[in-house]
Amino acid sequence: MQANATTKAKVSLHKVEKRYGETTILAALDLHIDDGEFLTLLGPSGCGKTTTLRMIAGFVEPSAGCIMMDGNDVTHVPANRREIGMVFQNYALFPHLTVAQNIAFAMKQRRATESEQRTRVAELLELVKLQGTEKRYPAELSGGQRQRVAIARAVAHPPKVLLMDEPLGALDLKLRESMQHELRAIQRKLRITTLYVTHDQTEAMVMSDRIVVMNQGRVEQTGSAEDIYFRPASRFVAQFVGRINFLPVSVVHSGTGQAIALAGVPVTAPDNAPAHSHGHPMTLAVRPEHLRVVRAGESPPGENVVRGRVVESIFVGNFVNLVIELAAGLRVTVESRAGPSGPAQGDEIHLCWKPDHAILFELDAMESGAGAVATVDTLRSRNAQYYQNPAPTADALD
Ligand code: ADP
Ligand code: MG
Repeated sequence: MQANATTKAKVSLHKVEKRYGETTILAALDLHIDDGEFLTLLGPSGCGKTTTLRMIAGFVEPSAGCIMMDGNDVTHVPANRREIGMVFQNYALFPHLTVAQNIAFAMKQRRATESEQRTRVAELLELVKLQGTEKRYPAELSGGQRQRVAIARAVAHPPKVLLMDEPLGALDLKLRESMQHELRAIQRKLRITTLYVTHDQTEAMVMSDRIVVMNQGRVEQTGSAEDIYFRPASRFVAQFVGRINFLPVSVVHSGTGQAIALAGVPVTAPDNAPAHSHGHPMTLAVRPEHLRVVRAGESPPGENVVRGRVVESIFVGNFVNLVIELAAGLRVTVESRAGPSGPAQGDEIHLCWKPDHAILFELDAMESGAGAVATVDTLRSRNAQYYQNPAPTADALD
């Protein structure tokens, strides 16, 4: 297994560490980027994404471990001999060179002929949709256009791997969204092995073949967008990618059809939940869009049902954020379709969800990380008291 992954990998990091003095920035990092793959490092600011990229580029030397490229150990190979293309958030183009001269820069250094350079520049300007801008200077371009030139320049002399560090970070939202699709199309066309860095989970999900979620210098999970969204391996991943409610529960009985108590009501645990004895406190995680609000008696068979009351209803355009209060003040956010007949503030409702749409986490891992959306985050701190006082078991209530 391991050997296969390594031979297929275009770039791989083996137990790479980075320390600055006493501080460990990256701990035993293992990473494999397949040939032609678009891999994204996703994580909060300061988790070590840029450091990882700079080590692959050869600008930063690892404190331990090795970096392989095309099967060769490049750990100590200088940056200019690694054949890497780079694009940064504010990668300044050479201001005194035209667009064409910027793009042809690496080719010229490698003594490509004038006509080879011209052909390649024309080809790349077509690829990044900037035909006719050859003679312009960077100052005469918009931010988005400059990043397109930076991309063309990075791939002009085809690199072994293209490294991009938050390249769209300085652009406004609309432009960033369209550039995400364009960048991905360019990468597909060139079939260029790409390592992309972002702290934006949507960007990572839109663009990547696989995503590596990092936290505090460690890999939390590697997988497709669906893997990390639907099957988060840790609490950190669950709340960093998308929105999620964390609810205090305790085990009622374990084994097949394990039951847990939420706000005093016994509900069915997800199928693959770890078995625990009666009273064991855990955290139930459910995404707002996996929860539904129905009228009493309308809950579908097979779904979990808990009684609650609508305490807040916030219209956000394509959906409504409902805040539901369960027994003893426990609060949950529900994402509901916007519509005229939806529940209103003060309504007594039933909250339901499919057991397998929830995830059970152990309590002790809950402190990690930041990044949850404000509303859910606020609820989490509001619900914090329940973690100190685990919910009562089922027999204590109806
Ligand atoms: P990210 O790109 O994920 O935001 P970085 O890789 O830039 O994170 O930084 C990871 C951690 O390493 C941060 O805590 C940062 O302060 C620290 N760091 C980065 N470069 C240095 C350096 N040259 N000396 C000391 N600490 C550094
Ligand atoms: Mg960074």
